[in-house]
Amino acid sequence: MTKDEIINSVNNIFGIHAIKEVSKTDVEKGAYLPNKQQRDILTSIGIQPTHDNLIELKELFSNNKLTVSYYPSERKGSGRSPEIRMGRDIIPYISRGDEILFTRDTHSIYIYNLSRATNYELEDNIYSQIDIDTLQNRARNINPRPQQVQQIINTYPRNNILKNYVKRRSNYSCEMPSCNYIPFVKNSNEPYIEVHHIIPLSEGGEDSVFNTVALCPNCHRALHYANNREYLRGILLDYLRNL
Ligand SMILES: [Zn+2]
Ligand SMILES: [Zn+2]
Repeated sequence: MTKDEIINSVNNIFGIHAIKEVSKTDVEKGAYLPNKQQRDILTSIGIQPTHDNLIELKELFSNNKLTVSYYPSERKGSGRSPEIRMGRDIIPYISRGDEILFTRDTHSIYIYNLSRATNYELEDNIYSQIDIDTLQNRARNINPRPQQVQQIINTYPRNNILKNYVKRRSNYSCEMPSCNYIPFVKNSNEPYIEVHHIIPLSEGGEDSVFNTVALCPNCHRALHYANNREYLRGILLDYLRNL
């Protein structure tokens, strides 16, 4: 995900976020000075700066936890109110110019260094981090009648002869070895089975009998989304070679 996608997701999922760029002063003081919005996020789940408390910040997208001090630093003789600072684990986590994002659910504060955003971070990971009470609250308050939007989708026209041959070849069973799928029957009386390209057309795979298998919906989704889909691909290619 890009930096902007992350900010959008966080705002959409948590409903709140605050960002500050790490300043020269932060670096010189060896302390991170959260801005007003970031302090408000901590206050909103009952965290106040104290002299002896350590708090835990969870890093978005990961299982990392930062143990951070959050304290008022007196400015002696200046007559000004104390400066609110953070120390400990946050110091090695930040460099000058980094953009630091804070957000929260009901129980936890989350931190993310946007300047370290990579493409490997998946929105799914944020959904699994947020506590279910907050998620429930957000889900209950979404607009139940979303506006229709038009989408332009690039697709390849499929050859129905090939598709129907593969269905018949499989005898309407899933061609993933050892799968025990029992198809339901459609209105047309045809048992339900899906047809899949082992090497996707978008990756240069062919729309041919040598690259096409019949799969049950579950195995089919796995071929597209499972973390071991490369391995599953190999099994199907072997299966086709031995037909
Ligand atoms: Zn497919
Ligand atoms: Zn299957």
